[in-house]
Amino acid sequence: MYLGAIEAGGTKFVCAVGDSGGNIHERVQFPTTAPEETMQKVIDFFKSYSLDAIGIGTFGPVDLNRKSQTYGYITNTPKPHWTNFNFVGTIQKYFHVPIGFDTDVNAAALGELFWGRAKGKNSCIYMTVGTGIGVGAIVEGRLVHGLLHPEMGHIVVRRHPDDTFVGSCPFHGDCLEGLASGPAIEKRWGKRGADLSEQDEVWELEAFYLGQAIAQYILVLSPEQVIIGGGVAKQSTLLPRIHRHVLNHLNGYVQHEVILKHIDHYITLPGLGDNAGICGALALAKQALGDK
Ligand code: ADP
Ligand code: ZN
Repeated sequence: MYLGAIEAGGTKFVCAVGDSGGNIHERVQFPTTAPEETMQKVIDFFKSYSLDAIGIGTFGPVDLNRKSQTYGYITNTPKPHWTNFNFVGTIQKYFHVPIGFDTDVNAAALGELFWGRAKGKNSCIYMTVGTGIGVGAIVEGRLVHGLLHPEMGHIVVRRHPDDTFVGSCPFHGDCLEGLASGPAIEKRWGKRGADLSEQDEVWELEAFYLGQAIAQYILVLSPEQVIIGGGVAKQSTLLPRIHRHVLNHLNGYVQHEVILKHIDHYITLPGLGDNAGICGALALAKQALGDK
């Protein structure tokens, strides 16, 4: 049985064919250009396979409400040409199979639940800290959608008293994404994150903000596992600093030994590594097949 997977990002698309055990058999990637050109490449890649289902994890915002006229669309994205793009409809025209469709971070959360760090658990959150900050959530075994889908990267955090950076979010200025995304780091310090590894104060401040946010996600959702991916999470000193800040913020209030004694196992990098996104799309395909 073959499953198709699409990880649609603002800069690149990854497509893969895999199986229901989470194994990837073949993959390709190409830059995200105009929808017609990009989708043609997706179709060309999949057409030599007989697929049983396809999963799509995409940048957003997206319409996930199956009762909506625009279900399966990328909606009001600022990304040129992609506004109101009918993603599911376009794929469905060529492939008459069940299609799973969700945000990139929800997909990654599901992949981690099926085959990664949250395997065997009923809940988790997957946070990406890269060009933007996004968080996918699974609660009681189900991906959280609600009205649209959560946008936990844009919550308000308490500012560090010494931080005068105005913030880079075009909507909110100094929301979490505005203060702690990759571009925010670059604007505040005048260098790319990858070139700031030696500067402790950069990663202390970063962990101060991410730690606050994660503490709030823990208070609101009580996830059994917290996973952090994305380019910024590749800084090797960041994760232990986040552990310390989360403990500081919670200050002993959430009494569970997983947090109090094993925070280094509780808040981790993705078990699927850089494949969290594409395996997540595979997980959506598997789930769509099961839902059929
Ligand atoms: P995207 O969010 O576009 O899918 P990434 O997750 O790779 O892609 O995030 C890109 C952002 O992460 C950029 O702002 C980049 O500067 C930052 N970044 C990438 N690698 C590192 C690193 N090793 N350390 C710190 N920041 C990094
Ligand atoms: Zn914002």
